[in-house]
Amino acid sequence: MRVVTVPCLADNYAYLVVDEDTGRAAIVDPGEAPPVLDAVAREGVTLAAIWATHHHPDHVGGNRDLLAALPDLEVVGHRHDQAHARIPGLTRAVDHDDEVALDGVRARIIHNPGHTLGAISFWLPDHAAVFTGDTLFAAGCGRLFEGDAAMMFTSLGRLAALPPETRVFFGHEYTESNLRFAAHTEPEVAAIHAAIADAAARRGRGEPTTPSTIGAELATNPFVRAASADQLGERRRAKDVFR
Ligand code: FE
Ligand code: ZN
Repeated sequence: MRVVTVPCLADNYAYLVVDEDTGRAAIVDPGEAPPVLDAVAREGVTLAAIWATHHHPDHVGGNRDLLAALPDLEVVGHRHDQAHARIPGLTRAVDHDDEVALDGVRARIIHNPGHTLGAISFWLPDHAAVFTGDTLFAAGCGRLFEGDAAMMFTSLGRLAALPPETRVFFGHEYTESNLRFAAHTEPEVAAIHAAIADAAARRGRGEPTTPSTIGAELATNPFVRAASADQLGERRRAKDVFR
């Protein structure tokens, strides 16, 4: 399996997931069709599926044009978005722990509501990769459009529990501004300052900062590192006991 990053729109990333044994590919979050069709041609692969992390137009805006060119594509999304008919061309509705396959490449579905109620990640356990859409970004997380903070906290916890070497392929190039916020919230964390230098170097070379890793997010992402209100309460009570 290999992943080809496909920049779309202003700062979105779609990803071509290629099964190298069969030459077939799935596209994660095609915000628009032209760059995806270019990448498919350039890589010499056959597009077989669209994997949608959520219904927002900057992630599914290319579905209709891709289906017009390739009508047999499987289109995968969460059942909540099927119920609301908001992922164009959806053919396969999934839920937490379901499995989808691109030939020999297996993806497990992780339901992570918060940014939207039907937000999902595609986790490829055999390939140490997860596609997180707008739920988990490098050093940040998505805005709460449909869910609440408690939901997002649980969702980020599910992703943080993946093996630390798991590569995180996220939906937007927000890394530098996210890291500035992270440095503001936790100025004493050296890993954040190292990540700022690394991101600046990559952007300076015109490269994307994707993918991150779960391990890097555990070290730098204030939303992954945040303790829940309950945990904070427990710590405070524990401190009182020892005072
Ligand atoms: Fe979104
Ligand atoms: Zn987005």
